[in-house]
Amino acid sequence: MDSGRIVWAPHVEHGFILGTITDIGSTTITVQPTAANTKAITASYNQVFPAELDNKKEADDNCSLMYLNEATLLHNLRIRYSKDKIYTYVANILIAVNPYHDVPALYNQQQVAKYKGKSLGLLPPHCYAIADKTYRDMKVLGLSQSIIVSGESGAGKTENTKFVLRYLADNYGSGDDIDKRIVQGVIYKACLTHIGLHTANPLLEAFGNAKTMRNNNSSRFGKFVEIHFMKVGRVVGGFVSHYLLEKSRIVMQNSRERNYHIFYRLCCGAPLDIRSKLQLSSPDNFRYLRHGCTQYFIGDKEAAKVKDVLSDEGGLKDILLNDYADYTKLVGSMKQIGVSHDDMLDIFQVVAGVLHIGNITFEEGGDSSGGCIVSETSAKSIQITSQLLGLDASALTEALTTRSMRSAGESNTIKVPLKQEQSSSAREALAKSIYSRLFDHVVSRINQCIPFQASDGFIGILDIAGFEYFEVNSFEQFCINYCNEKLQQFFTKRVLREEQDLYAKEGLGLIKPVKHIWTLSQKTLLSDLIESPRTGILDILDEENKLPTSSDHHFTSVIHLKHKNHFRIAIPRKAQLATHRSLRDDEGFLIRHFAGAVCYQTVQFVEKNNDALHNSLEILVANSKNKLVSQIFKSSQTHSTKGKLNFISVGNKFKTQLGQLMEKLNNTGSSFIRCIKPNLSMQGALFEGGQILSQLQCSGMVSVLDLMQGGFPSRAPFNEVYSMYKAIMPPKLKRLDSRLFCQALFKAIGLDNEDFKFGLTKVFFRPGKFAEFDQLMRSD
Ligand code: ATP
Ligand code: MG
Repeated sequence: MDSGRIVWAPHVEHGFILGTITDIGSTTITVQPTAANTKAITASYNQVFPAELDNKKEADDNCSLMYLNEATLLHNLRIRYSKDKIYTYVANILIAVNPYHDVPALYNQQQVAKYKGKSLGLLPPHCYAIADKTYRDMKVLGLSQSIIVSGESGAGKTENTKFVLRYLADNYGSGDDIDKRIVQGVIYKACLTHIGLHTANPLLEAFGNAKTMRNNNSSRFGKFVEIHFMKVGRVVGGFVSHYLLEKSRIVMQNSRERNYHIFYRLCCGAPLDIRSKLQLSSPDNFRYLRHGCTQYFIGDKEAAKVKDVLSDEGGLKDILLNDYADYTKLVGSMKQIGVSHDDMLDIFQVVAGVLHIGNITFEEGGDSSGGCIVSETSAKSIQITSQLLGLDASALTEALTTRSMRSAGESNTIKVPLKQEQSSSAREALAKSIYSRLFDHVVSRINQCIPFQASDGFIGILDIAGFEYFEVNSFEQFCINYCNEKLQQFFTKRVLREEQDLYAKEGLGLIKPVKHIWTLSQKTLLSDLIESPRTGILDILDEENKLPTSSDHHFTSVIHLKHKNHFRIAIPRKAQLATHRSLRDDEGFLIRHFAGAVCYQTVQFVEKNNDALHNSLEILVANSKNKLVSQIFKSSQTHSTKGKLNFISVGNKFKTQLGQLMEKLNNTGSSFIRCIKPNLSMQGALFEGGQILSQLQCSGMVSVLDLMQGGFPSRAPFNEVYSMYKAIMPPKLKRLDSRLFCQALFKAIGLDNEDFKFGLTKVFFRPGKFAEFDQLMRSD
């Protein structure tokens, strides 16, 4: 780092900007940016990075750059993004930057065919290349594979997941040798799965996706989609596991967001006979929809009119028109995966029931019991809800306005009247519970259409929300960040440790101490703070749920008491984080996650941790005359623990699911797709460097570079080097075995011994040195 050298200096907006070193102090470097009229930047040594000599140079694999650091990675992504090259490798990890516009040339059928059977790196970076690698690894190694797709909301996880699924289904879902397939007896299943994988998505997204401020089609649940194969290499079936549907959205959305797509599709897109049967009308008439954005009732004839009238604020127009068109798509999707017309209507009827539940309101009762009654204005809603959900209207009224209690020592139960707000929260609990169980049912219907009896291996694709950090963070963020800690730990373990293992296996010894600090402290965060029996946050919360008088305050105080001196948890004070308001000891806690400190407000933690309804409601719905309603409740009853309330722990259920997922991931080979959101305004061709850099840091990509920079990131098997260069070598050299061939070759052209190392099967290069060597060879 000498004076006059071209470097990258830190910049809040762009991440880094290019400049020339003008002064070198004892702890800082001063850089004069190349851009005109820009003030000099003084930064500490570890924030200034060497730039490539040619600043227009870009590389498919970031590891073939001369200088491997976060600034050159960001710049490489920037140049490529401007050319619609949205995919870039860092070794075997794929980075995908959301283009926010269609790039048909990337995903057409020729591309799908082109990547089939090709090794990673032979063709430009692509999620197809990752898909093909996992397929080939599965076959060659006989080991199931996972693709972990991560990134923040709107980064492109679901789109990439769909591209990967389609790639696998198109290339390996049905073969071209029809006789062979018939002999193997897999043709029917393969085709069925082929259809299932393609067509189930609109259904899944209708029930689990919603417009949010960050993404017009945001998945509000996580999923792990497995495609199963037989040894012959053909798809035999699939299985979708889902995680953590966001339930609060069913009853409330912020004013610029919406509820789940399905509600609008029914209100706006369904034909008149269905709408009138389900008593549906404009979304404005439903309390669960009108708090979000609601200008969308589109009758058949109105669609064209709306197109002209609406201003396209935040992509709203597109969405409104889609609501209309997407109903048809949804119905087509359900039909294709084998949901009969009657079953479809049954499902829609429950969805409509949920909407009508929301319109039931309460007012203070006339007697002295302190209880409440159903408002006169919503008497009709009680009738409609009961009819749609197969309940008795007076039983529903009673279950919403009273609670059954068994008094001590007595066998009969008494009815305790509920206050207005208690009844309101019972109503919301009922709506959330019905909808989330209906979602479970929808996923299991999808699974029914991609069945398989036996399989030899699978490729699993994980599409789950990335690390979340909002102004107010609640139980949902706590769960998703807990999950991300686990995934990050897995990523670190797989990528960083496997890197070291590889060096060790190849006899290169320990190259440079890997930064174990985060891995270690992540372990303590998970094992001490979150997951540990009795003292972990999840168990403390469960204990609170079981208390006769539970409260969020008490829960929070216990957390602080039990983890007083743990370095990863604190009481949120102003001094600790400028962006958060201070909270009292019993109002929240702050956790120092791998990706930054997050302050959780614990209001509603206890309530949100309980998946069960209170007894009277549970009994009511489980005995519903509507077959679907009673079915979705009967299947969940076995999990409940009896206490003051029925209690089904959301946190611990997620912990168990996550444990199973991690076990699957641990037992499979893995590939990673890191999705990046280029800007906050969801528009194409806008590369906001600063926030992209922070995503690269949060996703662990920067730590990967650190490790690689100190080691030998480029590597090639001897026989690969041999076949690459044998054509231009003299015959004498060609007769050598491939290892000797490489040794002789490197010696002959005078490569510096520091720049490469010989392993047992491969040659390893220092950053950028393989590219230099290759250039040298080709220019000679
Ligand atoms: P969330 O966590 O909110 O579900 P996500 O990471 O799944 O977000 P996507 O829904 O996949 O994000 O992407 C958001 C939007 O970005 C898509 O609806 C699409 O418009 C656009 N998009 C993402 N990837 C691509 C791509 N490869 N090509 C074209 N458009 C894309
Ligand atoms: Mg998504």
